[in-house]
Amino acid sequence: MDPGEGAVEFMREITEGMTLEEVRDLYRHMMRTPPDDAKVKRCATCNYYFRDKTRPGNAKVCGPSCKTVRKTEQKADQRAKADEGKPKKPRRHDTEALLRRLWNREKPYDPDKLAQMYAARERKRNIGGKKKPIRRVDY
Ligand SMILES: [Zn+2]
Repeated sequence: MDPGEGAVEFMREITEGMTLEEVRDLYRHMMRTPPDDAKVKRCATCNYYFRDKTRPGNAKVCGPSCKTVRKTEQKADQRAKADEGKPKKPRRHDTEALLRRLWNREKPYDPDKLAQMYAARERKRNIGGKKKPIRRVDY
């Protein structure tokens, strides 16, 4: 996932005026040893570092977009938990059931019939779909 607004802002703050090489080294260092600043946390959604600017210091996510993702996930979890044990609603388009019904109705062809069908298809391909009169030649 892409870093959220807070994570981008934080990295922009601490890497101001640095070269790309320095930023890369700093990032590698930060990934190995997390900063001991209590206000610098990792976002629960995008997992990047950000500075917690809330007064109580209890932010879990770095910015509004990450907050939306987190809330969506939480709601989905709650819904899944609430639906636990309830019978499943039938789906509107149950493709498998449809196919099962069709396969049940399908009758197997006998091999001779199959050969006739292939021959008919071949004939049709050869004469281009046009029906030709049968000519009888008496010798
Ligand atoms: Zn984030």
